[in-house]
Amino acid sequence: MTIKLPELPYMKDALSPHISANTLEFHHGKHHRTYIDNTNKLIAGTDLANETLEMIIKKTAGDAAKAGIFNNAAQVWNHSFYWQCMKPKGGGKPTGAIADKIKDAWGSFEKFAEEFKNAGVTQFGSGWAWLVLENNSLKIMKTANADTPLAHGLKPLLTVDVWEHAYYLDYQNRRPDYLTAFIENLINWQFVNTNLR
Ligand code: MN
Repeated sequence: MTIKLPELPYMKDALSPHISANTLEFHHGKHHRTYIDNTNKLIAGTDLANETLEMIIKKTAGDAAKAGIFNNAAQVWNHSFYWQCMKPKGGGKPTGAIADKIKDAWGSFEKFAEEFKNAGVTQFGSGWAWLVLENNSLKIMKTANADTPLAHGLKPLLTVDVWEHAYYLDYQNRRPDYLTAFIENLINWQFVNTNLR
């Protein structure tokens, strides 16, 4: 089974000015595509060639000899998930079941937003900030490089990419400003609610 690059769920200029078409052109068209091409090359002819992407990630997690496959496959999954976590005119306060769960866990959306942003700001080097379900409880976490909650038995609900390639063309070194824009203008809460089910 060949892994294919998914289409973006919106036009390349649809997230502008928060994320430019130029960033999406490189991020989706070059970075994501490279992870896909590398994964396909690395699994070709191996016993992983017929597995789903999720199974490839689970079967290679923690195996130093298969770190190259894990890193590329996890980055494929993380990016496909990240694109869906955003939409034009998104962000701000959530609605639906996730709104109640966030209020139960953090007391207010503002407190959640502060801690989610902080997870992204404090991820040293490349990685991801996440909202996940762990035993039916909401939890904010961060992962380094390609690491993904899927490899730790957690259910991802929302992610933001904090690799420099995600924001450098638009924000240069201002990762906190990118995270603020993501929270206030881009989060697709409908998608997050769908992941809760
Ligand atoms: Mn990325």
